[in-house]
Amino acid sequence: IRKPMVAGNWKMNGSLELIKEMSGAINNVKSKEIDIVLFPPFPLVSSMVLTGVCTGAQTVSENEPGAFTGEVDAKLIKDLGAKYVLVGHSERRSIYNESNTKVAEKFARAQNVGLIPILCVGESETEQENGKTELVVSTQIDAIINKLGVAALKDSVIAYEPVWAIGTGKTASPEQAQNVHKFIRDKIASLDGNLAQGLTILYGGSVNEKNSELLFAQTDIDGGLIGGASLKADSFIAICKSAE
Ligand code: 13P
Repeated sequence: IRKPMVAGNWKMNGSLELIKEMSGAINNVKSKEIDIVLFPPFPLVSSMVLTGVCTGAQTVSENEPGAFTGEVDAKLIKDLGAKYVLVGHSERRSIYNESNTKVAEKFARAQNVGLIPILCVGESETEQENGKTELVVSTQIDAIINKLGVAALKDSVIAYEPVWAIGTGKTASPEQAQNVHKFIRDKIASLDGNLAQGLTILYGGSVNEKNSELLFAQTDIDGGLIGGASLKADSFIAICKSAE
């Protein structure tokens, strides 16, 4: 029932040349069975949209247009033709001090203009070692539910990205990831069963063409949010195909 999704987060990488290469490769795949989305840096969003590849932005301002130098308005992102926006990526939380409250504001602002937020959640290495994974992930999701109600999760995607797995080459094992994904789905199902069944939950953190197939085969893993491997056409396409 849930269509698999493979999303590529370019972070602060990429170029017009890479857009040409990646969009060529993706448009060749033309899979109706998976949603493929790329998240380039802001200045490349328009160019990506023009290639026909489904596009998202990596973050968004929580504010309405106004005096916020350097920030980017959700409505503008939407008007440029993007469909998705990442909110609460761990790099935004840790390097730019985005709190759960701020992430919830960004989530709300994105939905207000018709963008689909991809809420990124995940625990740090210390939190994992201390058995805090479920607590951390739960608190991050509750920030959205408490502000907007569980219904807000209907038009959204959740990405579970354990911080210790991001860019480290240490992937969560398929079982480890499945356990957290199931925890997330069960938690939401306790509030709204249909919504939980329809909710796309992605795994992110050192996904590559070698480990993607087993991860994506897990019952509650609906695809991936790919960092490093989304910058190389062969790898990214192989990962996309493994989600079919
Ligand atoms: P890596 O795939 O490079 O570990 O990055 C994951 C990520 O942060 C995607 O948002």
